[in-house]
Amino acid sequence: MAVYNRTPVTVPCVETKYRTIKTALPVPESIPLLEKLEKFEPQSMLGQPPVVWDRAEGFQVYDKWGNIWLDWSSGVLVTNMGHAHPKICAALEKAVKNKLIATYVFYHEQRAELVELLASIAPKGLDKVFLLTTGSEATENCIKLARTYGIQKGGRDKHVIVGFTNAFHGRTMGAQMAGGVAKQKEWIVNLDPGFVTVPFPDGFINEDLRFELFLETLENQGIDPKNVAGVMSESFQGAGPYFMPIEYAQQLQAFCRENDALLIMDEVQAGFGRAGKWFAFEHYDITPDLIACGKGISSSLPLAAVIGRQDVMNLYKPGSMTSTHSGSPLPVVAAVANIKAMKEEKIVENAAQLEPTLMTALYDIQKKHPARVGAVFGKGLVAGLQIVKSGKDPDPDTAQRINETCFHRGLLMFAPVGTGGQCIKICPPLTITKDALLDGVKVLTQVCDEILD
Ligand code: PMP
Repeated sequence: MAVYNRTPVTVPCVETKYRTIKTALPVPESIPLLEKLEKFEPQSMLGQPPVVWDRAEGFQVYDKWGNIWLDWSSGVLVTNMGHAHPKICAALEKAVKNKLIATYVFYHEQRAELVELLASIAPKGLDKVFLLTTGSEATENCIKLARTYGIQKGGRDKHVIVGFTNAFHGRTMGAQMAGGVAKQKEWIVNLDPGFVTVPFPDGFINEDLRFELFLETLENQGIDPKNVAGVMSESFQGAGPYFMPIEYAQQLQAFCRENDALLIMDEVQAGFGRAGKWFAFEHYDITPDLIACGKGISSSLPLAAVIGRQDVMNLYKPGSMTSTHSGSPLPVVAAVANIKAMKEEKIVENAAQLEPTLMTALYDIQKKHPARVGAVFGKGLVAGLQIVKSGKDPDPDTAQRINETCFHRGLLMFAPVGTGGQCIKICPPLTITKDALLDGVKVLTQVCDEILD
């Protein structure tokens, strides 16, 4: 959807404490590399601002030509502890020196340390941890466990997985069937009728926040609640970020308990402090049965995990629920260092403390441009501006112009998100300081003032 200008344009020089822009953008010398990527990669890989990352440290991204961006992407909500955190890098260097970089699922020390750590930050009763590599694998595994559990408890009819409109759980087949974007499922053709979608109570796209709507939708689709094996939801949906009303989440939990359906919270994006708590579902005061984790778990190398109830996690016999890279030593070492550093440096608290600074600034932008900023949502250090033509009508072109102009001024965000491409998403590393956050706010405010009328 997002198409960035690939012809270098002269942009004003920027030289502040956190941002430096001293070349045309994209950098003329980077064009051959961009062309090589265009030649050898699918076009799906070419949707981000054309900066060639050379180094990323803390909350800044550097190219080879002297430009420095203040990062409001965290990659894609990965580097919660900042890019290349010194404690993570040191742990990785030590592991490489020790020469243990691949293990399959043979045992190693750090794996034991990590699963214990993860169980310790999860709610009581969720004390088994299965390590994987990507978020999609984690959500797929939750689906599989829920169905396996359901069939065992209630027979083959108890296999229904309920997901939400606009939900995103990854790009593999099961994850997309549980997801809530019809267009993304067209390629599947034969959709499994055992996946059901109910409206997500986001308060913007869908203003009906009653839990009864969940029940009514199941009824209209002929689903007996007793046949629901699991309900999966992101703790917040990325493109808002949209949170559920607390009461709705609690009613959802009660529904699951009543029907012996597993409550699965997808924390791949929401977890590890992003919304100002270790897990974003803590805002709802609920306890899921399974948690899917990824991204911020390591702030760096690819790692994912499912954390869950012992009886569910033990459904598969030794050797029958594994993956080649489960517990791969380097991602595991990175995750251990990451989680310890998050605790030591009180980074979750930092995200919570900076929330009012960020949200006040975003509401101020909305107040100045009420017709064009349809809504503002956020918690902790994740937020979004919904750019609209009017009302709720998405305006992806304007969102894209805001995003690209910020990029030209040294503020890096990934391409606008949302099914309409209208959401300017803000998600800096949780290590960002108030001063640096305000520096970014200044850029975004100026750019919105210039572009929105
Ligand atoms: N669930 C959510 C909520 C996500 O945001 C993502 C990734 N954006 C995924 C699952 C899939 O993770 P991955 O890309 O690591 O497979």
